[in-house]
Amino acid sequence: MPKPLLNKSHYPHFRRKLREWFRTARRELPWRNTADPYAIWVSEVMLQQTQVSTVIPYFEAFLRRFPTVQALAEADLSRVLKVWEGLGYYARARNLHRAARRVVSEWGGRIPEQYSQFRKLPGVGEYIAAAVMSIAFDQPRAVVDGNVRRVLARLLGMEAPVNDPRAAKAYRVAAEALLDREHPAAFNQAMMELGALVCRPRNPRCGECPVQRFCTAFAAGQQEYFPRRLPRRQIPEYPIAVGVVQRNGRLLITRRAEAGLLGGLWEFPGGKVREGESPEQACVREIAEEVNLQVRIRSHLTRVRHAYSHFRILMDVFLCEYQGGEVRLNGPVEYRWIAPEEIDAFAFPGANRKFIPLLRR
Ligand code: SF4
Repeated sequence: MPKPLLNKSHYPHFRRKLREWFRTARRELPWRNTADPYAIWVSEVMLQQTQVSTVIPYFEAFLRRFPTVQALAEADLSRVLKVWEGLGYYARARNLHRAARRVVSEWGGRIPEQYSQFRKLPGVGEYIAAAVMSIAFDQPRAVVDGNVRRVLARLLGMEAPVNDPRAAKAYRVAAEALLDREHPAAFNQAMMELGALVCRPRNPRCGECPVQRFCTAFAAGQQEYFPRRLPRRQIPEYPIAVGVVQRNGRLLITRRAEAGLLGGLWEFPGGKVREGESPEQACVREIAEEVNLQVRIRSHLTRVRHAYSHFRILMDVFLCEYQGGEVRLNGPVEYRWIAPEEIDAFAFPGANRKFIPLLRR
């Protein structure tokens, strides 16, 4: 491990260079034109796991629809999920909605300004709490996201793998030490912006870097060696069979229970294909088990691949004809027989949205 170039005596100079750079280089983003802690909170929740360019239209639509924490608290979860549809990681939306209700019931609609109180809200982890407290209220909390970890690893020549949970503390300690306590909002945003624009995962733009003179990796010519990462684990792929059940021109959709993966979203019934079973058999069995209907497969509509964070699915979708039975739910919490033109009123997971356009044709 190269000896870090950056030491305590450099910190004031480092912070000033970073701040000056951020003043001129920062991107204009919709959540940067506001001091409203609610808007900043929404943006930080959306930005977890999602790229800035994807987040922008969702952020704007969300704030148009739910401009205040009260408006969000009063909304039905299904409406919130509909605005979130396509952004993925739906637990974020469910938690934000629950947290908004808590802010209204426990805090009279004012977002708590104390880190420990804000941190207790659903979905508010260390990252979100530090980001909102520092950006909205200029409190001295260091934010450590993937961009910041990469910048720190290079600046300080840190060998600890950035994706190793056991290294989280080391990165947090390093970020806290470096934090500009007089300008925490600007400092945190500048570190994240530096990672996004200059100290990029590949081909960092060291020639344009405002803190190049302090950078251990640059001095050693090891910008590509850092950050270290643990090898990615192979993620499993599961075969899934799904049925679009048609009856008198209507389609059957069901809503998932709110707890768990994709909770609260609507979908077409189906499930995992078991060992030794064909996708067709799985489709018929799953529909019988989940909604108590007998169906006949009419045709194979399509095959869809979709990736979640810890697994992938290979989904065979069948058009099914209703044969008998009345809906009795076992798993889902609600069902509807809808006309095809009503489909846009419901929020579906990404894998379902991949084949829904075929149903409109
Ligand atoms: Fe990153 Fe290069 Fe700047 Fe070092 S000099 S912080 S590697 S962009």
